[in-house]
Amino acid sequence: MIADPAWKSALLHKGKDVADLLEAVLSGKDVDLASLPVPSGPGEDPELRLRNFLDQIDRAIETFDTDAFGRCQLCGADLDRGALQQQPWLATCPAHAGRWIS
Ligand SMILES: [Zn+2]
Repeated sequence: MIADPAWKSALLHKGKDVADLLEAVLSGKDVDLASLPVPSGPGEDPELRLRNFLDQIDRAIETFDTDAFGRCQLCGADLDRGALQQQPWLATCPAHAGRWIS
């Protein structure tokens, strides 16, 4: 997978957005989590969801220039380029979507 350099800035921006959301949650504000990946279970704690997502974004940034980027963390399948275009933090193939690795 040759990563598009534009994805890196998208990752950095998203990481900042999510960090801001996390800070808002921690200070007791109501935040809209509609932009987050679907929770792995109902009622999952907003703070946990944000932390998981932030980890996922950080991992994508860390692996950006490596072979690991753009591969499913569970099965190693190449991820769809179009999907990465939309969500460069994508960590799993469709078969493993919604499964967090932590
Ligand atoms: Zn997979």
